[in-house]
Amino acid sequence: MVDILQCTFCKRPFQSLGRKICPECLEQIDKDFFVVRDYIFEHKQTNIDKVSEETGVSKQVILYLLKEGRLIIDDGGDTGGLLKCEVCKKAIKSGRMCERCKEQVAGYMSKSIQTHQAESAKNDNASFKGTAKLKSR
Ligand SMILES: [Zn+2]
Ligand SMILES: [Zn+2]
Repeated sequence: MVDILQCTFCKRPFQSLGRKICPECLEQIDKDFFVVRDYIFEHKQTNIDKVSEETGVSKQVILYLLKEGRLIIDDGGDTGGLLKCEVCKKAIKSGRMCERCKEQVAGYMSKSIQTHQAESAKNDNASFKGTAKLKSR
């Protein structure tokens, strides 16, 4: 089953296999990602407006990459409220949740999934007995 969805970016309908972005836009985003990543690497403290201006990549794409957690923009603490934690609505720099909420979710998950870790220390001692014959005069 293939659904026809409207692409979040170009607004064109396309056959979706679960994503909300068409393959063409995804390809473009992947290209944009490298441009933006390189820019941020060189300009550690910046903001989305500046990045968009300098790289020519639309803010929507940059925001998408930030939400995906593929990019982190350090604009000196002020994110301008563009990205918010989905749980507590605190301003965040990357991803979907703030560190605190992420930890809480992770803690909850590790509690609910109790796994017994069997320690199996089987070290196969593969000894290589190299018989190197050195011919010295
Ligand atoms: Zn598209
Ligand atoms: Zn939070």
